[in-house]
Amino acid sequence: MAANQLLVPIFCGGLLACALLNDSQAISQVLGAQPDSQVKALVGRLDLERYKATIKGLTQFGDRQQGTDRNRAALDWIEAQLKSSGCTNIERIGYVYNAPAPPPQRSGAATQAVAISSGEVRKGVGGSRLRGLVLPQMPNNDPAAQTDPLLRALNAGPVNSGPSEDVYCTKVGAKYPNEMYIVGAHMDGRGFGEAADDDGSGTALVMELARIFSDPDVVTERSIRFVLWNNEESGHVGSRAYVDQRAPLQGKESPPGSRRYPEPKWLGMIQHDMMLCDHGMPGPDGTVSAEQRREADINIEFQSTAKFADRAMKLAFFFRDANEKYATDYPAAVGPHMSSTDSTEFMDHVPAISLRENERGMQIGAGWNPHYHQATDRFSSYSDKDFRLGLNAAQTTLGAVAELTGASLKK
Ligand SMILES: [Zn+2]
Repeated sequence: MAANQLLVPIFCGGLLACALLNDSQAISQVLGAQPDSQVKALVGRLDLERYKATIKGLTQFGDRQQGTDRNRAALDWIEAQLKSSGCTNIERIGYVYNAPAPPPQRSGAATQAVAISSGEVRKGVGGSRLRGLVLPQMPNNDPAAQTDPLLRALNAGPVNSGPSEDVYCTKVGAKYPNEMYIVGAHMDGRGFGEAADDDGSGTALVMELARIFSDPDVVTERSIRFVLWNNEESGHVGSRAYVDQRAPLQGKESPPGSRRYPEPKWLGMIQHDMMLCDHGMPGPDGTVSAEQRREADINIEFQSTAKFADRAMKLAFFFRDANEKYATDYPAAVGPHMSSTDSTEFMDHVPAISLRENERGMQIGAGWNPHYHQATDRFSSYSDKDFRLGLNAAQTTLGAVAELTGASLKK
């Protein structure tokens, strides 16, 4: 194929997917194309107020902690929203969640940052290296830490072991219904706040993309599955159940000859987890700036130890390129330490990446988000500059996935 064919995004939706699947493809041939006008029009259907409204809608269920009635009510609400936005083939998968014995209660984040000394090698999760000032991270598990009595009451229900579910819907590809990209976020939360950032922000992003790709005039050559994982906070239980149950079904036509593929072959998995808050490093007193930092960016991570690390790296840079073409305000950076979210469960099966407000290891892991797993993770804790970072991540993923699946608009 000629290199210039790769520079025509709509035509090469399929070819780009092939390029990302073939290790021999030079990255220079994949990157640097002009924005596509139809993809740009699709990205233009994203709206800040609408994105905020979807996050706000999720916060009516408190922190959506796994194993609670408020978690189940949130899952029902998400399903109803997907249905009303026109997303088809809505399904759930079930598994059993065994709640561990509750740990001792503690509240309040650490207040003193620890300075990493010159030359000291301090490792964070995912293979990262911590630098500068680090604030130890302690999730809040004390319901009384919530100062709002209404929210405290909403979050009071018990956590029970038992059946649990993920929910997803699927845009079926017109040309290749047997292949798909998975676009995900986790809908459960913790900390006795509203889980607005972690991970209402990612959940709303996936729901907004499901809505736009389900518009009647949008056609994609390949399929896209929009998945809201449950039980992420207890160790990716919902995404692992999906991988265990569905990986063997990939690409199988059922019934034979029907052109129906209950589990299209996985081409890539893109996770969204904490999309709002990039306020910089804590100061020596443990406080973080109240404002989005001027250098705020979206962090796209792959995992360098994954079986599909090389192709995941190409996918990550493809997303960074999509950010340059389609995101309105904030840039994106690529890193090799993807960790601690549902994409980890996919990374040895298929190229997998995560999009976040910060690098998970050296930034979130060092206390850059003061609301992380705290009672203060509430809608009211974030400004439009924060919400706009999440919207820019949505623009990035929408642009990238539209190109990868060969999206176009019906005349
Ligand atoms: Zn999360």
